[in-house]
Amino acid sequence: MAKIFCVANQKGGVGKTTTTVNLAAGLAKVGQRVLMVDLDPQGNATMGSGVDKRAMQLSVYDVLLESASVNEAAIFSEKCGYHVLGANRELAGAEVELVEVERRERRLKQALAAVADQYDFVLIDCPPSLSMLTLNGLCSAHGVIVPMQCEYFALEGLTDLVNTIKQVHANLNKDLQIIGLLRVMFDPRITLQQQVSDQLKAHFGDKVFDTVIPRNVRLAEAPSYGLPGVVFDPAARGSQAFIAFAEEMVQRIKAM
Ligand code: ADP
Ligand code: MG
Repeated sequence: MAKIFCVANQKGGVGKTTTTVNLAAGLAKVGQRVLMVDLDPQGNATMGSGVDKRAMQLSVYDVLLESASVNEAAIFSEKCGYHVLGANRELAGAEVELVEVERRERRLKQALAAVADQYDFVLIDCPPSLSMLTLNGLCSAHGVIVPMQCEYFALEGLTDLVNTIKQVHANLNKDLQIIGLLRVMFDPRITLQQQVSDQLKAHFGDKVFDTVIPRNVRLAEAPSYGLPGVVFDPAARGSQAFIAFAEEMVQRIKAM
């Protein structure tokens, strides 16, 4: 049965999409069957997985509105080695269209239940907000992966997310937990980053992943080629870190 993870942080530009597509590609590389779900109307994770968001016939929008199944809408990315349930601008409308619907926060969960035996991992890239879309992600998931930069306000921003996760856990999804905090865009030469990293470990203990993702220009270049860094340049330092992170995730779910 698939383990389902949301990659979430209500801040934008913290590395959610980069984490989602590179973890998906890293897991595929080590032999896992992966479905990547893009829940952000910007469709960056879709494009970054080699799927043209403008050319898609069906997307996660159709799945949320129950006009298509996951199997009908998902596309296998040959280059990346995983399935993509893509998103585009249409998804922005789902928020409004779902307002009238019952159990609207559970639409994705229900749809994913039908494909749980086809995958080892489902990774959901969330938008930078705590919206109905993110709520659908959190309701579906066993755990949340929180990418974060080790900056001064990082811990402060975390409080809102932790509270939201607690509420979802209490009211909607008792499986939900924070699997871990992933330090991304890390530069060990910057003293402040090292200090925040130490604070994180003191505060969250083994909820902080061992793997650290360095700041690496190859990871930033890869999306313009429509690929995760792990596929675009597997030897790059950042790609190697994501492959190590995939291995860490495989170990973690054994303990779940
Ligand atoms: P989010 O999805 O949270 O908005 P992104 O994954 O799109 O964040 O990342 C924001 C920007 O930072 C992108 O331009 C991305 O290419 C870049 N980026 C992300 N991670 C790294 C990294 N480890 N090293 C260098 N650039 C990165
Ligand atoms: Mg993103």
